[in-house]
Amino acid sequence: MRRSPSSSLWRHLHLTPRKPVAMQNLDLFAELLPTAPPAVQRAKPRVLMHVSDAGEREDGQHICVMTCRICGIKTDWLSFATMTEAKRGIPCEACNAAKAA
Ligand SMILES: [Zn+2]
Repeated sequence: MRRSPSSSLWRHLHLTPRKPVAMQNLDLFAELLPTAPPAVQRAKPRVLMHVSDAGEREDGQHICVMTCRICGIKTDWLSFATMTEAKRGIPCEACNAAKAA
């Protein structure tokens, strides 16, 4: 069992006994504490049309038929530079006009 140092030892070391500091109560790095995130300005969600049929023209151009999953309208064959561009979808004019109104 460890005994606390005698008062003469404290005097010898020119120290005064102190109670232990409750470390969890100290805000040493208050600037690192989490804060509320800044309000983010977001665009209103759009309705997109997605590829329902895809192919290639004789000259190698990618062409797709786009269909809206909300209102069901279909486009004519549209040409795209890449298939990735087509797969991203295009905004549905009918649905987005209805949302804006
Ligand atoms: Zn639509």
